[in-house]
Amino acid sequence: MSADEELRAVAGEVAACVQCKLHLSRKRAVPGEGPASAEIMFIGEGPGFHENEQGRPFVGAAGRFLEELLAGIGLTREQVFICNVVKCRPPGNRDPLPEEIDACAGYLERQIRAVNPKVIVTLGRFSMARYFPNARISAVHGQARSVDGRLVLPMYHPAAALHQPSLRRSVEEDFARLPELMRRAEPIQAPPAEEEPPTPPQQLNLF
Ligand code: URA
Ligand code: SF4
Repeated sequence: MSADEELRAVAGEVAACVQCKLHLSRKRAVPGEGPASAEIMFIGEGPGFHENEQGRPFVGAAGRFLEELLAGIGLTREQVFICNVVKCRPPGNRDPLPEEIDACAGYLERQIRAVNPKVIVTLGRFSMARYFPNARISAVHGQARSVDGRLVLPMYHPAAALHQPSLRRSVEEDFARLPELMRRAEPIQAPPAEEEPPTPPQQLNLF
């Protein structure tokens, strides 16, 4: 299956998914979007009101801020992959529960494997916790670390940063590091293709 096909397969399964309670209150599932060839992947928390209406990630106020930040480094949202830890909106925008994050993790895993980005930017605590389980975001934001040969850069969530000037400055500074980080990041090796079993040596028939 090509990466494109895998991303479409994930989106199809997410739309019909009933693996956690969040399916009961969703209007539209929000699998995430972006090209399979994206070099950067942004992972947020979960769909909010507008995302649930439209079935697309980061289309509300936080999304506009994310687009501004991208523009600041010469990128548009069409050039990056944007998704969330949970694909269905938690009622009233409450935090996603650990069991909901676990139930949804397989989809995110498959998206990461398909896109195979050079850099993953985690937005907020929940996607950060996937890579840095005990880290405090105030201590580690803006510091990229290598995880499984891939750079992961934790940042504050743009929704939080929108209304708090100090966090906003942090997000802007952390974003400004991305171009240099992209240059530094090694291209990720595609996983080796399944090897053909060696053909047994031909028995020479001497007689
Ligand atoms: N906040 C998120 O974490 N994700 C979205 O898709 C929108 C807002
Ligand atoms: Fe399925 Fe994820 Fe939606 Fe839960 S949040 S119903 S696991 S797609």
